Amino acid sequence: MAIPKAARIEKSEPINSETKLLTLAMPAGEPLGFTGGQYVIVNTNIPLPGGKIAKRAYSILSSDQEQAKFQIAVKKIGEGPGSNYMHETQIGAELPFSGPWGQFVMDNDDSSKVLLLATDTGITAALGLIQSAKFKERSKGSRLLWLAESSEYFLPQTFVRNMVAGAVRFDLEIIPSVNHPERFRKAQIILKTALEEWQPQSMFLSGDGALLYPFQEELVNRGVAEKQIKLECFFNNPFKKVAA
Ligand SMILES: Cc1cc2nc3c(=O)[nH]c(=O)nc-3n(C[C@H](O)[C@H](O)[C@H](O)COP(=O)(O)OP(=O)(O)OC[C@H]3O[C@@H](n4cnc5c(N)ncnc54)[C@H](O)[C@@H]3O)c2cc1C
Repeated sequence: MAIPKAARIEKSEPINSETKLLTLAMPAGEPLGFTGGQYVIVNTNIPLPGGKIAKRAYSILSSDQEQAKFQIAVKKIGEGPGSNYMHETQIGAELPFSGPWGQFVMDNDDSSKVLLLATDTGITAALGLIQSAKFKERSKGSRLLWLAESSEYFLPQTFVRNMVAGAVRFDLEIIPSVNHPERFRKAQIILKTALEEWQPQSMFLSGDGALLYPFQEELVNRGVAEKQIKLECFFNNPFKKVAA
C-alpha cells in the first residue's frame, strides 16, 4: 500500500531550458530507505480530464549512501501536467510522494559484467543504480550506453560523465528523436554493434518501452537469461492501459 510522504524542496536548479534538478529533504532528516535504481511517485494533486489525479514517477538520481536527502531530474514534456508541475515547484514547498518503489536494483545473483542501456530520460535510473553501494561493490568493468537525441538532451554529457566518475565505461550514442521513423532501426544497430564487441551477463534497460521491450526479446533470443535482464519503462509502456 502507498504510504503518503512529503519532502521539502531544498534546491531547484535549472540544468538547461528543459531540465530541472530538484534536491529534496526528508522531514527531520529521516531516511527515505531507497536503493539506487528505485523511484518515487509524486502526487501533483492536479486533476486530469477523466477525474483522476496526475501522479508521476521519478527515478532517484542521487546516491543511496545519502538517505535523508535525494535528487531527481525532471525533463519538461510539452504541456504535460506532471513535468510542468515539477518545473514550477518552489524552494521550501512540500512535495507529496510515495515510495521508494521498483525492482530496478542490483540483486545478489546479478553478475558483475553489466550493461546498462538507457534511452532518453531513462538515464536517471541507470545513474541511480551505478551510484548504489551494491553496484559499486560488485560491478567493476561494467558499461553504460546512453541513447539520446543530442549530447545536450536532458542531462548534458559532462554532467553524466561527472556522476559516473570512471565507475563504468560510458558511451553516448545519438539516435533520432521519439516517433522518428528511423529511430528503432538506428538504435537496434547500435545495440547489435555493442553486443558484437562485448557480451554482458546482466542487463539493465531503462527509458523508451518502444525500443526496450523488443530489445529485451532480442537479448533473450541471443541467450541472455530472462532473469538477468531488468527493464524500467519510463514511457511508451505497452502494458499501461490508461494514462493517469
Ligand atoms: C519508473 C519511472 C521513472 C521515471 N523517471 C523519470 C525521471 O527521472 N525524469 C523524468 O523527467 N521523467 C521520468 N519519468 C517520466 C515521468 O513519470 C512522466 O511521464 C513525465 O514527467 C511526463 O509527465 P507529464 O505529466 O508532464 O506528461 P504526460 O502528459 O504524462 O506525458 C505526455 C507524453 O509524453 C510521454 N513521455 C514521458 N517521458 C517522455 C520522454 N522522455 N520523451 C518522450 N515522451 C515522453 C508520456 O508517455 C506521454 O505519452 C519516469 C517514468 C517512470 C515510469
